[in-house]
Amino acid sequence: MRLTMHRGMRSFAVRLDRPMHIGIPLRFDGAQPNIFSADAASARTLEGGGFVGDTRRGGSCNVDVLTLTPHCNGTHTECIGHIADERIAIHTLLEESLIPATVVTVRPVPVASAVDSRLLPDGDSDRIITASALSDALHAADPDFLDALIVRTLPNDAGKCARRYDAAPAPYFSIDAMRVIADAGVRHLLVDVPSLDRASDGGRLSAHRVFWNVPDATHDIPAAAASRGTITEMIFVSDAIADGSYLLNLHIAAFMSDASPSRPILYPIEPTESST
Ligand SMILES: [Zn+2]
Repeated sequence: MRLTMHRGMRSFAVRLDRPMHIGIPLRFDGAQPNIFSADAASARTLEGGGFVGDTRRGGSCNVDVLTLTPHCNGTHTECIGHIADERIAIHTLLEESLIPATVVTVRPVPVASAVDSRLLPDGDSDRIITASALSDALHAADPDFLDALIVRTLPNDAGKCARRYDAAPAPYFSIDAMRVIADAGVRHLLVDVPSLDRASDGGRLSAHRVFWNVPDATHDIPAAAASRGTITEMIFVSDAIADGSYLLNLHIAAFMSDASPSRPILYPIEPTESST
């Protein structure tokens, strides 16, 4: 199938035949990424009333009971309901599923060498994603493709698909870096770290709050006035995917919860002859 998309005066062919997955497959019986020492996502067979949900054990079909914590067990997409007293669900917030997107790559730096504003005394070994790194990365970005921004951090390796972040803390975004992203008009942010914020930040979630334009400390966020932006954490962007413009398909489950496991897919785009 061939899909043509138009942005402004330009037209692009979307290569639906070349999907590139940037979600981490969640292996219920294998290695998973993890943060906050949450229980691993797990699966067990549904059993009862004479039924066994496992064909290998004589059941008529396979029926698993899955247990997971979306925020801690792998690729997930969350909405402002993450920090609001009012229950706001990702299913009702995320209206788009095909989103013009840009992939950028940044190198986090030791916190001691950064000039960005910070709200906390950071650990000596902390690494942060700075405003200057993001500004540099966004310099070449096409403004028509900044509805979503995918940030790949260096070093980049498949270890991100199974890292235990309590033992190996991830880099996080400075407040100034988040302002660069917000100022660029990004509405859907996807990152390969487990949180925009430092894992132990005293509960401030300052970077999340900058993105959703919510003042510090308050949880009083009426759904009617809430940002419709989404944050997707713990993705993995293979080195085979170049920086640049794509069409993003952001799948979530229809969960009436602040977050859902997600399955983001990038499709390459190519300018068509009718472009001006
Ligand atoms: Zn999260």
